[in-house]
Amino acid sequence: MALLNEFFLELPGESLFSDVAKKINTFKVIRPNAELIDMGINDVTSPLPSPVVEAMHKAVDDMADSTTFHGYGPEQGYEFLREAIVKNDFNPRGIHLMPNEVFINDGVKSEIGNIGDILRADNTIGVIDPIYPIYIESNVISGRAGVFNHGKWSNVCYLNCNENNGFTPMPPEIPIDIVYLCSPDNPTGAAYSKGQLKKWVDYALKNNTLILFDASYEAYIQSPDIPHSIYEIRGAKKVAIELRSFSRTAGFTGLRCGYTIIPKELMVQTLDGRRLQMNTLWSRRQSVRFNGVSYITQCAAAATYSPEGEKELRTTREYYMENARLMRRILSQLNLKIYGGEHIPYLWIKIPTETSSWEFFESMLYGAKVICTPGVVFGPGGEGFVRLSAFAKKEACEQAAKRLRDWLK
Ligand code: PLP
Repeated sequence: MALLNEFFLELPGESLFSDVAKKINTFKVIRPNAELIDMGINDVTSPLPSPVVEAMHKAVDDMADSTTFHGYGPEQGYEFLREAIVKNDFNPRGIHLMPNEVFINDGVKSEIGNIGDILRADNTIGVIDPIYPIYIESNVISGRAGVFNHGKWSNVCYLNCNENNGFTPMPPEIPIDIVYLCSPDNPTGAAYSKGQLKKWVDYALKNNTLILFDASYEAYIQSPDIPHSIYEIRGAKKVAIELRSFSRTAGFTGLRCGYTIIPKELMVQTLDGRRLQMNTLWSRRQSVRFNGVSYITQCAAAATYSPEGEKELRTTREYYMENARLMRRILSQLNLKIYGGEHIPYLWIKIPTETSSWEFFESMLYGAKVICTPGVVFGPGGEGFVRLSAFAKKEACEQAAKRLRDWLK
């Protein structure tokens, strides 16, 4: 009989996001005529830019002609896209990478779990908290997270993001094998400065820590002082993998494309002390477990770097950021503590009363008819906060903020 990987049973039956959905459904049954505004939205809402759509049409035509047809592509991604990434996303920031240090994938969510394939199950892990929950859940499945007790996983070191540390925790005293950082961070919106990231890189160099740096939201960074890539920090190529996605940068949430940077300098160690190049191992892993992202999708991703594509995408991102500023302006008429919205289109709001984030979510739902995301969904450190997303349409953002202002007054 086939036996189950029992670590899988450690996962909660459903994610906390489905609890949010259930509570919203209950509301809709009780109040069928109420007009809800969804500020919990975890997706983009603007369509793909026209150069991306045109590139896809052309790629479809290529597939219809025997002289330009593309079958299986390279597992690591087409050279044309890997080169465009290096040239556009890294070289202008003084970062030199080879195209074969870039691995094209179907998005950060799957990649985060996939990387665990080549890492032992007994590595210790650390996460900033609150955080994108997939970092932890993917480790639960592979047995790295331990057991769930009082809202925390026993083998996970939680690095609390709070108002005192500006939501950017610094390295702990103890050594950790694998650390997940996200900057700008979903949900808090905090972004690490160069000086802060240097402390993390120095810590990793000293302790042989592997940093998994999620830069999915880097395109929203508004200040020249905030690094877009961890490789802007000297020494980072020796300790960090960077994950990036076209989802938030270019509206690819439904199309699926991202990429991972694994520099040649990054080594991983065996239990008996051999040091091996992670890049070579990952390339081999991909050739066993992956058959590449579709040609059509990679053509679409490459078109995001065309001058017209970049222009349209800048406008779209500015639209979301302007939504965040608009909500902040309206809500600042109250005595609320509002974080985020500066380098990411999410507002991270401190609950002004002594209620839990679930209770506040429900009272906002029934009182203002606005959906938010309870902070605790992103980890225990999110208790006492809620997240509002500005990835919605402008009218919805404005109306929701006005409803909240009137409800909270
Ligand atoms: N990383 C973070 C921090 C996210 O918030 C999300 C989506 O919400 C993802 C990764 C998922 O990215 P992708 O669409 O590339 O899987």
